[in-house]
Amino acid sequence: MGVTEVIKRQLTIARVYGIPVRIDYRWFVIFALSVWLIASNLQSHAMQLGNVQMPPLPSATAWILGVITTAGLFLSVFGHELSHALMARAEGIEIEEIVLHPFGGLARLRTEPQNPRAELRIAAAGPASSFLFAVLAFGATQIAALGGYAATFVVFFLIAAGNLLLALFNLLPGYPLDGGRVLRAILWRKSGNMNEATRMAGICGMLIAGMLILFGIYILVAPNWRPTQPYFMGGWSILVGLFLLDTAAKVVKGAQGARLATVADAMSQPFAIEPALTISRLVDDVLPLHQQTSFPVAVKGQLHGILSLEDLKSLPRESWAKTLVQTVMRPIGPGFFVDPSTTLNSAQVIMRQNGVGSLAVVNAQGKLVGFLQGGKLTRRPKKKPRSQR
Ligand SMILES: [Zn+2]
Repeated sequence: MGVTEVIKRQLTIARVYGIPVRIDYRWFVIFALSVWLIASNLQSHAMQLGNVQMPPLPSATAWILGVITTAGLFLSVFGHELSHALMARAEGIEIEEIVLHPFGGLARLRTEPQNPRAELRIAAAGPASSFLFAVLAFGATQIAALGGYAATFVVFFLIAAGNLLLALFNLLPGYPLDGGRVLRAILWRKSGNMNEATRMAGICGMLIAGMLILFGIYILVAPNWRPTQPYFMGGWSILVGLFLLDTAAKVVKGAQGARLATVADAMSQPFAIEPALTISRLVDDVLPLHQQTSFPVAVKGQLHGILSLEDLKSLPRESWAKTLVQTVMRPIGPGFFVDPSTTLNSAQVIMRQNGVGSLAVVNAQGKLVGFLQGGKLTRRPKKKPRSQR
């Protein structure tokens, strides 16, 4: 592991449900900063939260509470990411790793969700768990208040507030935040075009990042509004904004690049079956070698139709030997073939609507030159970060 680990500036600290959990080295700086921020506040200010009062604490107690609270907050971020990861696994997607980095966490999935519903569920799992942690921590504050444990009250109060903030911030509707992924899932379901949905959600992400940066600058320069730690808060907002802006801009750029991609870039060499082939021959001889869910049907490069295995489900097994491909195939029609220069985006929309989830690619001379399958198109080879913060 040595060299790559150092380059990645990450340290593997644990495996949870078989998922490696790594920590970015810069994360330790943030951990220390958070401990310092909480400890210095507890030392210098008396706390008045509801009817719980706490005088300024002696330095050792303040530092210990700072460490406990910070650990609780980082466990909360981890719980948020773990929820994304476990929901992804429930949707059949393998998880590469969970990384805790200076701006929160990230659950990296091996592949993109295959449909909007899976995307929506995976995205919503994070904020849902943060809301739950906030409620639990708030419950703990109430128990602490009853017992008169002021320090315990303050720790759980900060953890409850942190989780609530984590949930709300993540629900902002801009990619790559969870709310942006929810937005992408909704747009994706509406248009059937994942790429365009990603681009729109990414643009919203850039707008939100811009607002965070402006908000940070405002806190730094506003003359009449001074939160307790203006430079820290303002600087933090600007940093998070820049980080989001960078990620969202890359996503938009990637989606724009894919928008210009054509069918010719993505199609596979066509393997066509003959209309006169029997279904039993198809099942015995062709399927073991070509694991596709649909096939172009052609004679000497001339497209006759598309056979979808879905359409065979209603066909009783006894009739396989005497049924020909041409009787069960979908005969050639406008929704079943495109020209190689068609954009991938519009091809995806056609594929979703034609009922077979695939498309034959036919050149200007009417010859079958390629085949596109929907499920394979959305499976992008590149790893993409799942979730920020
Ligand atoms: Zn999240």
